[in-house]
Amino acid sequence: MNYSDTERVAAILEKMGYEKTDKPNQTDLYIFNTCSIRQKGEDRVFGQLKKIKSWKQANPRLHVGLTGCMVRKTSTKNSLKEDKDDLLRKPLPGVDFVFNIKDAHRLGELISEAEPRLEIDNGELNLSGYEDLGLDDYLKITPKYSSPLIAYVPIQVGCDQYCTYCIVPYARGREQSRPLADIMRECEKLVENGCKEITLGGQIVNSWGQSDLDLKNIERVIPEFSSLPEKFQKEPFVYLLTQVDKLHSKGLNRLRFTSPHPRYFSDALIEAHAQLKTLCPHIHLPIQSGDDQILQKMNRRYKASDYLKIAEKVRATIPNCAFGTDIIVGFCGESEQQFQNTLELYQKIGWDMCYLARYSERQGTVSQKAFPDDISRQEKASRWHRLNALLEAFALDYHQKMVGHTAEVLVEKYIEETGECEGRSRENKVVQFPGAPEQVGQILPIKITKALQWLVKGESA
Ligand code: SAH
Ligand code: SF4
Repeated sequence: MNYSDTERVAAILEKMGYEKTDKPNQTDLYIFNTCSIRQKGEDRVFGQLKKIKSWKQANPRLHVGLTGCMVRKTSTKNSLKEDKDDLLRKPLPGVDFVFNIKDAHRLGELISEAEPRLEIDNGELNLSGYEDLGLDDYLKITPKYSSPLIAYVPIQVGCDQYCTYCIVPYARGREQSRPLADIMRECEKLVENGCKEITLGGQIVNSWGQSDLDLKNIERVIPEFSSLPEKFQKEPFVYLLTQVDKLHSKGLNRLRFTSPHPRYFSDALIEAHAQLKTLCPHIHLPIQSGDDQILQKMNRRYKASDYLKIAEKVRATIPNCAFGTDIIVGFCGESEQQFQNTLELYQKIGWDMCYLARYSERQGTVSQKAFPDDISRQEKASRWHRLNALLEAFALDYHQKMVGHTAEVLVEKYIEETGECEGRSRENKVVQFPGAPEQVGQILPIKITKALQWLVKGESA
């Protein structure tokens, strides 16, 4: 989501006449797009700000802005006082302005206030229609995509789930789905311009069209809702996938989504993978823990056995599906036995990809208020390493099973030093093979010859 937001901020800055630089210490404007999911991300911002202090002394024209999850729901500049958990209540030293990402279209105004001597040309921005801002209206800004081939298209903002450890609902606000027509317009334009792969994104992406705000006025999201067949009324996300899949005839080759939530991971969604041409055999479904008591304490609202049923159905319905997850180790009060339950489930499901996180207490969340962060750093590290060993084994195993088969690779880049091309298979596995620069952008059959830990090697089939 943050990458996608950055692409929108970049588009606005470019329209204002700014140019991208690869010399950050010589820039006139530096904007942090921050992540607050774990303390590490925030610490990195504080570290970088120290460096910027000396850049500012050398270059008085340098102005620093900050957006993203460190800025809470209410904060754009002067309204900082409104949220008591806002980290930026007292503006950070060295930061000239902060803005909620939803106010990205006001960047020109904010920069001019921070530096009244600057003349900012807002003329080209054409912000008509932005006066009446809804939660997701900033998504109307056309992004400056970082790749012409592969794009991330946000389909919802915020999150209403309130997992007890998670800062997202506080940082990103209410869950609201982006209207179908807006999503389709963005996807169609991308495909017209040569995009081959689209990832639909949101925090609980498969609950699209089902949040409380959506249900208050579902016609805002899907105008034709009342005339849809019942199966789509029940599963608006599957309807959306079906609509985007139609772009196959215009050149879309691959469709993915991230991150889904197990509560909404229905049989119809699994079956859609077998039916839709573009939908890839690649599912990343966060579980967080394999222990029912911990899941309940996390407010995840499913049991390990519910997840296992989904996994079994995925394995039975989608051949060779790459299957990943997110796990948090060392959540408040997690006993060795409870952790063992996660290890056991890992053995059973065998995820070939996993984002492993050590629990990081976040100010203002339910778990921070209600449960002590009582698992030691050493214990969190030990659990992380024990799970990581499993991840490495299953990831390598998946790669080894690819050897001898032919993968369809969308070539993303040419690596000059090695004379190899690199791309991803439909299962999202990184593939390298001897190639040429002009193969970038093509979809090629590659015979896999060698499995490494985090990628596979191959040759033109
Ligand atoms: N919406 C997605 C995940 C969004 S956050 C979902 O519901 O699964 C991305 C990942 O960061 C989470 O899956 C979780 O594993 C991790 N995470 C979130 N809050 C965390 C915290 N306080 N400490 C450690 N990891 C956390
Ligand atoms: Fe956070 Fe849970 Fe929402 Fe994911 S579903 S963003 S973990 S609150």
